Amino acid sequence: MEPRPTVAYFTMEIALDPRMPTYSGGLGVLAGDTVRSAADLRVPMVAVTLLHRRGYFVQHLDESGHQTEEPAPWTVEEFLEETPARVTLTIKGREVAVRAWRREVEGVGGARVPVLFLDTDLPGNAPPDRELTHYLYGGDRRYRLCQEVVLGVGGVRMLQAVGYHDIARYHMNEGHAALLAAELLRQTMSMQGEAKVTEDAIAAVRRRCVFTTHTPVPAGHDVFAMDLAREVLGRHDALEVSGLFTHEGLLNMTYAALNLSHYVNGVAKRHGEVSRKMFGSSSLDAITNGVHAATWAAPAFRSLFDRYIPGWRVDNASLRFAVHIPPDEIRAAHQRCKRELLDRVKSQTGVDLDADTLTIGYARRATAYKRPNLLMHDPARLRRIAERVGKLQVVYAGKAHPNDQEGKRLVEEVHRAIAALRDTVRMVYLPNYDMELGRLITAGCDLWLNTPEPPMEASGTSGMKAAVNGVPSLSVLDGWWVEGCIEDGTGWSIGEAKDSHDRQRDAEALYSKLEDTVIPAYYDNPEHYVRVMQGAIVANASYFNTERMMYQYVTRAYFS
Ligand SMILES: *Cc1c(COP(=O)(O)O)cnc(C)c1O
Repeated sequence: MEPRPTVAYFTMEIALDPRMPTYSGGLGVLAGDTVRSAADLRVPMVAVTLLHRRGYFVQHLDESGHQTEEPAPWTVEEFLEETPARVTLTIKGREVAVRAWRREVEGVGGARVPVLFLDTDLPGNAPPDRELTHYLYGGDRRYRLCQEVVLGVGGVRMLQAVGYHDIARYHMNEGHAALLAAELLRQTMSMQGEAKVTEDAIAAVRRRCVFTTHTPVPAGHDVFAMDLAREVLGRHDALEVSGLFTHEGLLNMTYAALNLSHYVNGVAKRHGEVSRKMFGSSSLDAITNGVHAATWAAPAFRSLFDRYIPGWRVDNASLRFAVHIPPDEIRAAHQRCKRELLDRVKSQTGVDLDADTLTIGYARRATAYKRPNLLMHDPARLRRIAERVGKLQVVYAGKAHPNDQEGKRLVEEVHRAIAALRDTVRMVYLPNYDMELGRLITAGCDLWLNTPEPPMEASGTSGMKAAVNGVPSLSVLDGWWVEGCIEDGTGWSIGEAKDSHDRQRDAEALYSKLEDTVIPAYYDNPEHYVRVMQGAIVANASYFNTERMMYQYVTRAYFS
């Protein structure tokens, strides 16, 4: 008999193990950290995702930064256990059998959260259907919609098939899983013996659903033509109710999730405001993202915290006590992390970075609104800063989505700047950014740079990983940084907290802050710099973690 968890967490991607390429970036890392904290806090939860047997992709970069992709297959049996459960779906008029693989995530106190990975690669399925759970964010619109049927509808049925009959809350981590609400509606109607969608049935589904929206960027919101929806899903009463699953004549997963959830939230206070405007929904709440502190603290910081703040792994708020860790110890732990990063840079690129030079880290998905090239907006200026104010070196990483041509062009632009500035500012671009590289870079640089175009960065979490390792951020005031930035206390801001499309002005603000404040602090006032590092732990690691975040979901969304 299965234990009976009450929260079912649905996510298209999840980062559980660096060797399982079942995630692409921030959304999947957040899902993994959410499940880890649920296990720590003994929140009764089960997670549902797709298997992604061929992974996201391996990124190859040539000399000029041209990106090519290769599938990232992995040996499922090494990491997951097959369950005997099977469910059947009808997709495009064909029967598709789905199986589930299982892995348990164990919390600090031994509680476990199972994660179910749905898989359609079964011998009885038609060949194209066997591939439906192969590629994360691969294929065309039809492929994506089929995947969302497997996740949403297949997920609800699979939970029942493996014995979870009393799910109290279905949490949609982004709109990809919104079709779970269609399945819940269908089941509710059939239980009530209704042939039509009733207000009662809608209310019953809403009571059980929670939705977290993750981005103000249009590409992050899935919409599908109704013809395609009918072709893939067949006739479905719920889809024909005007304005329930549709918006402006299209199947819209964000609006579907909004309409069918009793609790909806954005992922930072600023993002909550932006989303309230975007969807005209005054009740939309905000729960700021976090990171799983014990996962993202480098070994040197884990042992430092173990010595000074025993219990920090289950009580992240006590990281405030880092205020009493001697600054020299923080500096020493940081230098160990930095050494580890520089060794990796050396072995991977042959470039010898210097352990005493201010090292800036920038790693995230390469896409236009994140502006990976803002730092080299004016190469002559950057060169002058490095020559006259203080030496700099930069570690870059980030994949562009295979269809994001602009993102790919930006990776090439960064490579051209790296070559052009080679003599004065040493910069490297590490290929294949993933969880493991994320750990190394966020802990090993001296300054974490973030330059998105406000208000597009919903939250951002890599700066939180840096904070756990005492690395201050230098960032545009967007996403979590609006809450996390204490100027000269936890890091530094770039520009003002308002929407900006003025690249020139933002670049200017970035250069001035480096020139006037950050570089002088690093070289001329190391006592102050290490206080800012400590401030990042005291004020930010203690708050921007998934333990605090999970408490907020529990009290506001799950058991409210
Ligand atoms: C943390 C992480 C991200 C998300 O970082 P952002 O700051 O939200 O861009 C993306 N990819 C990987 C591999 C990560 O570890």
